Amino acid sequence: MKTNDHRPKRIGVIGAMEAEVETLRAQAGTAEPVRLADMEFCEGRIGGRELVIARCGIGKVNAGICAQLMISHFHVDCVINTGVAGSLDAAIDIGDLVVCTDAVQHDFDITPLGFRAGEIPYTGLAAFPADAYLRSAAKEAARRAAPKIGIFEGRICSGDQFIASRAQKESIRQRFGGLCCEMEGAAIAQACHLNHIPWVILRMISDKADDSEEVSFQLFAETAARNCAGIVRMMVEML
Ligand code: SAH
Repeated sequence: MKTNDHRPKRIGVIGAMEAEVETLRAQAGTAEPVRLADMEFCEGRIGGRELVIARCGIGKVNAGICAQLMISHFHVDCVINTGVAGSLDAAIDIGDLVVCTDAVQHDFDITPLGFRAGEIPYTGLAAFPADAYLRSAAKEAARRAAPKIGIFEGRICSGDQFIASRAQKESIRQRFGGLCCEMEGAAIAQACHLNHIPWVILRMISDKADDSEEVSFQLFAETAARNCAGIVRMMVEML
């Protein structure tokens, strides 16, 4: 499965929040950051791989801009999005990991004009497919780095909303059937898709995206963010 064709030399890692990228930045021994679009991009190395690590901030616009800069300015040959998410599935608990199979923008809606829910006109796609090689590397890294956690594979739903009610959660589940919700992944996926760059999203669950969520997010987001970054570190070493 592992062929040299697949192996990226220069890997872009994007996290939305500081806790999602800070340990990785330290481990990669990054040089002075380059500041573009009010985001800091840090170049470093882990094992034999060159890394560009960025904190994009919250939401899909930031995430899309960041992914495009990773590609056009830093010339990465794949993008990994690391971070935390709310669970959409009762079987997926806080601390479990979701590896993305495809990503959809749950708040993108042109259904009144005959498009499918989430469909982006002119792409023909509602959900963007993640790269198979990166997905399998992510799963293997998770098994090695965090053997005790639940590892799930499936759709990730992104939107410019923090999901914190049973009704919102159910509505997303019914329309898209995803495993978790967050605010950046599908925008990174779309930017990578448009540029023909392989990508994957890894998200560790910080909350249940329901009425218990606020406390849960405050309590667990930081640890989940760091643990997810630990899996990405392992993944980079294995790629
Ligand atoms: N003030 C916070 C803002 C966090 S917004 C801060 O910057 O520390 C929530 C972040 O966590 C987003 O990056 C999103 O991708 C992810 N996330 C976790 N749980 C989520 C949920 N239930 N709904 C939407 N996004 C969620």
